[in-house]
Amino acid sequence: MAHGVPHHALPIPRPDLGLARDCEHCLGWGTVVTRDGEHQLCHTCQPGPGGDGTAV
Ligand SMILES: [Zn+2]
Repeated sequence: MAHGVPHHALPIPRPDLGLARDCEHCLGWGTVVTRDGEHQLCHTCQPGPGGDGTAV
């Protein structure tokens, strides 16, 4: 029944809530909302989208 979803509606990233649990930046959500109203993975607790494994 789900139709009419606008193409510009990006899917909300799926964060690792285990990592986000103790994060004060995103308050455990694992995502943050940008000024544009878009959800982004919390860069504080979530690994980058590249996933190059580089430690902070
Ligand atoms: Zn976080």
